Amino acid sequence: MRHMQRWGLLAIVVAGCEAPAPTFTLGEPPSEPADVATLAAAAVQLHLVHQPPAQRFLAMHAGTWELDFDPALGTLRSLRGSGFELPDATTEAALEAAARGFVAEHADLFGSAELVAELVNDGVVMDRPRALASIMFAQRHRGLPVIGGHLGLTVSHGRLVLVQGAMFPVGDVATTPAIGRAAAAAVVRVVVTAPRRGDHDTARLVILPERSPDRVHYRLAWEVTAWRGERQAVVFVDARDGELVSGHDANRYDYGGRATNHVDERTVGDAVIELPAAHLRLRSARGATITDATGAFAFRGEAGPLIVNANLHGAYVDVLNLAGPNATFVGMMRPEAPYALEWTETRSTPEERDVFRAVNTTNRFVATVFPDLPWMQHAVVANVNRPHTCNAYWNGSSINFFIAGNGCNNTGRIFDVVAHEWGHGFDAHAPGAAIDGALGEFIGDLMSFVQTKSPLLAPGFFTNGKPVRDLEDPAFECFDPKKKEVHAAGHLLGAVVWDIFTDLERTGFTGEPLKRLMLRPIAIAQTRRQWYGAMLAVDDDDGNLANGTPHECLIYNQFKAHSCGGTRWPGIPAKDPPHCAAAVVPRSR
Ligand SMILES: [Zn+2]
Repeated sequence: MRHMQRWGLLAIVVAGCEAPAPTFTLGEPPSEPADVATLAAAAVQLHLVHQPPAQRFLAMHAGTWELDFDPALGTLRSLRGSGFELPDATTEAALEAAARGFVAEHADLFGSAELVAELVNDGVVMDRPRALASIMFAQRHRGLPVIGGHLGLTVSHGRLVLVQGAMFPVGDVATTPAIGRAAAAAVVRVVVTAPRRGDHDTARLVILPERSPDRVHYRLAWEVTAWRGERQAVVFVDARDGELVSGHDANRYDYGGRATNHVDERTVGDAVIELPAAHLRLRSARGATITDATGAFAFRGEAGPLIVNANLHGAYVDVLNLAGPNATFVGMMRPEAPYALEWTETRSTPEERDVFRAVNTTNRFVATVFPDLPWMQHAVVANVNRPHTCNAYWNGSSINFFIAGNGCNNTGRIFDVVAHEWGHGFDAHAPGAAIDGALGEFIGDLMSFVQTKSPLLAPGFFTNGKPVRDLEDPAFECFDPKKKEVHAAGHLLGAVVWDIFTDLERTGFTGEPLKRLMLRPIAIAQTRRQWYGAMLAVDDDDGNLANGTPHECLIYNQFKAHSCGGTRWPGIPAKDPPHCAAAVVPRSR
């Protein structure tokens, strides 16, 4: 499935310049880079684990530990193992203090004392009935957000068992911009359309790490968010010289469009067949686009009687209908007789009712795992019947669904789609920033399949009944670092976790514990690489990850089975855990 939404190639016109004008394209949202597995990389890991910072940690904390270093930074990106007592981590403040104490004590493992002093608390999740707590720190250098800089610590049964993250030694990069906010916004206007009434640009100064295989370069940049109607782009502009660095469409469009035509095969009376609607102009309120030869396209992407009126607004969702009046109910409530408030076809549309139901159901489903997350207590805005087809998106503040047409059903009528978009909103408000777009897409799918218990994502998305993705699609069975498009890259992790989910159900591990093991890692893992360790930490029953967890081998064996393409899944151990080695690799289908 193609990633939706390109703003198209837009040339920067360089006045008086003989060279061809450079072009700038909005790219993919940021995603975690995959390592290149080489002998040299393995040698670097081996070298770093024998250096004084790691050796000092291992000498201080008995047991078995697995350390993994960031190849470009040379600092720790993952630590998991036997665990050790983290005193007094029973309240949010105490957990933060204890976590800071540990990180400061081993500052050389994570970078330096100056670096760990840059951590700010980005969110704590403490499970009430269970002995699990996690804290996510974000990095701020001289007060500026460092894009991707984070460190998460997980405490199980009072013991620190897992630390994952990346911290960037920004060093002496000057933090005073040479160009101002307005100039940065003006640069961005070369690549996004001029703002119209109601549009606006916001900008903040950030430190932008830029990775190459063996080093990281840092830029002081303006992160400009350009709002154009329902569309939103994030563009980085070098704050020293105004150079356009990179940018992406920040709307999380989810479903690539493919327009189809149902036509008589040759003439009247022939079978009706479905063909791609190629080279078709599609108009929308916000512009037009043309399908390609396969029909694929992308848009920018108290006493007495009482009169009662209601909309489909509630504690968890406010549904807005963009194609007509909002679902409205007006009725008379009488104290002597109960009145049934019934949403039917005469007062609302199916998509309004379906979105209302799907958001409420999903919110309440997830709330048992994250009862204290503030975002869960707010109504999310859900716009139905946007005048485009074959897609849905989260734009940073609302979830949005398109009308039926071009071979697709109304996306508001599909539970899986609503759960996925809601999942983007949840992910954006759970501890940690969205720094791995592929993980975000996986989380959207996870919200769906853990509820539907189906490997098919959004069946009936297309009017021929087909789904958008199938977690049992053989093309996504083996980890493939070349699959970089965020939905495809997220699909790879979905295929693994779907198999883990079904294996767990088969062993009788079901209900709330299964739901928790599936969802709780969201607040611990910030990248796909971190998901494996996060699952083990949630599964742990004794504050020790080195002695196995109840379902470690089942989880490990699926990640291993899905490493069938020649590249092991990032984040899993280099060798079979000793107590899992004899286990048979499961084939769940
Ligand atoms: Zn998505």
